[in-house]
Amino acid sequence: MRLQVVDHPLVAHKLTALRDRTTDSPTFRRLADELVTLLAYEATREVRVEPYDIVTPVAATTGVRLSPPKPLVVPILRAGLGMLDGMTRLVPTAEVGFLGMIRDEQTLQASTYATRVPEDLSGRQVFLLDPMLATGGTLSAAMRFVFDRGADDVTAICLLAAPEGVRAVEAAFGPEAPVTIVAAGLDDGLNAVGYIVPGLGDAGDRLYGVV
Ligand code: URA
Repeated sequence: MRLQVVDHPLVAHKLTALRDRTTDSPTFRRLADELVTLLAYEATREVRVEPYDIVTPVAATTGVRLSPPKPLVVPILRAGLGMLDGMTRLVPTAEVGFLGMIRDEQTLQASTYATRVPEDLSGRQVFLLDPMLATGGTLSAAMRFVFDRGADDVTAICLLAAPEGVRAVEAAFGPEAPVTIVAAGLDDGLNAVGYIVPGLGDAGDRLYGVV
């Protein structure tokens, strides 16, 4: 497993504005979108490509193109939906699946309420979008789901991660697993009710309001 905390002044600047409690929902959505595009640039560093012959106005040359099968992007509903446009802007040819997961606020256990993901993910690179890696329960369940369908490489893109969540994912899949976590920040830890500290609050509520 690999954890990459993206160290870039623009990422840090946007993340600070995102954390600020006075940032309203429209601004929060825009900042999350911009941040994801910056994280996606790092998260796709190992995306598979193949040689591709072209002719420029000057000469024939060989470049690369994304190789099949197409990468699969899976936002974890609801908050992951706020990361989808930022990701597909960078990888417009990716396919998009959906996983609806909810965390029980008492037990902090994740359960799945909706799935729209191809049955066979053999040979696919999967990019999971989940803004907050807190206990790791939701992300581990989502990773288990796509590995069970045959995915051979999974990258999670998170706005913030807590050390507890990173450790939980590593414990679930082992240090050698083909798993990468890319985050804009690694925070101090979780509070008594499972929120990331200092964090940014409830990402779903801040994106979409309290519903
Ligand atoms: N989910 C959130 O939205 N925020 C947290 O801090 C933890 C989990």
